[in-house]
Amino acid sequence: MAVLEVKDLATYYYLGGRELKAVDGVTFDIDQKRTLGLAGESGCGKTTTAYSIMRILAENGKIAGGSVNLGGLELTTLSDEEMRKVRWKKASIVFQYAMNAFNPVLRIGNQIVEVIREKDDVSEEEAIMTVSTLFDEVGLKPERQTDYPHEFSGGMLQRAIIAQALACDPQLIIADEPVTALDVIVQNKILDLLRKLQDKYNLAVLFITHDLSVVAENCHDVGIMYAGNLVEVGSVEAVFKRSLHPYSYKLIGAFPSVVGPKKRLEFIPGVPPNLLNFPSGCRFHPRCPFAQDICSKERPEFREIESGHYVMCHFAGELDLGGSQ
Ligand code: SF4
Repeated sequence: MAVLEVKDLATYYYLGGRELKAVDGVTFDIDQKRTLGLAGESGCGKTTTAYSIMRILAENGKIAGGSVNLGGLELTTLSDEEMRKVRWKKASIVFQYAMNAFNPVLRIGNQIVEVIREKDDVSEEEAIMTVSTLFDEVGLKPERQTDYPHEFSGGMLQRAIIAQALACDPQLIIADEPVTALDVIVQNKILDLLRKLQDKYNLAVLFITHDLSVVAENCHDVGIMYAGNLVEVGSVEAVFKRSLHPYSYKLIGAFPSVVGPKKRLEFIPGVPPNLLNFPSGCRFHPRCPFAQDICSKERPEFREIESGHYVMCHFAGELDLGGSQ
């Protein structure tokens, strides 16, 4: 059963009287114990999608349409006060820059205790016990909860953020580039930890990243975004083995692999579109080698082409993209 259902989500930013359709009709869902990796180039709308779900958009951003259903609760229509109760309690977010996530002049444990006591009716002693258990769970010594953020390394801070994210027993964790700022060894340890905790706590995870190798190794499903649209979504196996959208095919083919035979890397001709002036019809049409007349005129539907494999392309399933990658 889906924990998170996002349907036709549209989020716009308003810049000096102009409208930027940063997310425009995005649909996906995530089940318990499943991880969906949302990938795409910078500016494609993946982080705006995450921030829309959490309702933490910048002041000039607004959810313009669609729905976000979390465990049966429609989030887009909640008041700010109701939404505050949802954050941490039902959905938590783990940010990329761990150092910015904690107040530098307060002890880390106290900050997590504060989150717990704001959401749950527990005594300070009980909350401190919970933090000790969570620290142990994420591989930190419980006594380190009295440290200040500057006394932690980047990897330790990321573990503390994960502890904080779990503190109120959420159903969904959004991980926004959670390991990008860490070295590869620490990255792998944090990703292992996330997988272990997901299993233990039955979490649905939305994983935002620009790194497709991280998606391939850590996610069950993948969604590829381009210019505010989700152009393809399906299981990692299906999308990586046989992409059905020309952009996904090229994006995946542009990533070097350190295993398997050497292959020529794909490149994507042209440049990403101007965010304030997206192309008509299919937003990928100026760069797509398969574009036909209809592509610049009509926006393609987001259709299920194979079981669980959705694609936004007029000719999905009909194009010879080069077969297996
Ligand atoms: Fe290419 Fe047309 Fe498909 Fe867009 S709809 S990806 S332009 S073939």
